[in-house]
Amino acid sequence: MLKIPGKSCGPCTHCCKVLYIEELKKPAGPLCSNCIAGGGCSIYVSRPAVCQDYECQWLYDRNLPATMRPDKVGTLLMDDADSDEYHAVCEIEKPFAWRNPLVFKHLVSMAKSGRIVVAKSGLRAWRIFDDGRWGEWA
Ligand code: SF4
Ligand code: SF4
Repeated sequence: MLKIPGKSCGPCTHCCKVLYIEELKKPAGPLCSNCIAGGGCSIYVSRPAVCQDYECQWLYDRNLPATMRPDKVGTLLMDDADSDEYHAVCEIEKPFAWRNPLVFKHLVSMAKSGRIVVAKSGLRAWRIFDDGRWGEWA
C-alpha cells in the first residue's frame, strides 16, 4: 500500500504497543522495549521485517483524517491478517477508545460496506454492526 503524502507515524507508537509481535516475543499490551519516548525505534535499521512492512489503515487511507491518527484516538485500525475481519485495536488501559465518535462512525461505515468489524482490547472483543449496534464478540 502507498502511504498518503503528508501522513507519517510521527510520535505515534500505538502498533508497537497493542500488537503481538512474534519475532520479538512481545505480547499485545506492553510497549515494545525498543520504543523511543516521543516516537521512533531504537533498532530502526535492524528492526524485524514485520515491523518494516507494517502500515496501519490510517497511514494509507486518505479518508481517515489527521485527527484519527492512532495515538490521538487510542485505536489502531487494520485488516486482520488471519481473517476477513476489520479490526479496531485499543490499549488494555482504554478498552473503549473505539467508542470515540470519529472512530465509531468509521467502524459503522466499514460494517455497512460488508466487512465484519471487531473492536479488540487485550482478550476482550466487540462486534460492531451496520446499524450502529454493538456487543461482546466471542
Ligand atoms: S499505529 Fe500506524 S501511525 Fe501509529 S506508529 Fe503504527 S503504523 Fe505508524
Ligand atoms: S522493534 Fe521498533 S518498530 Fe518494532 S515494535 Fe519495537 S519499537 Fe516498534
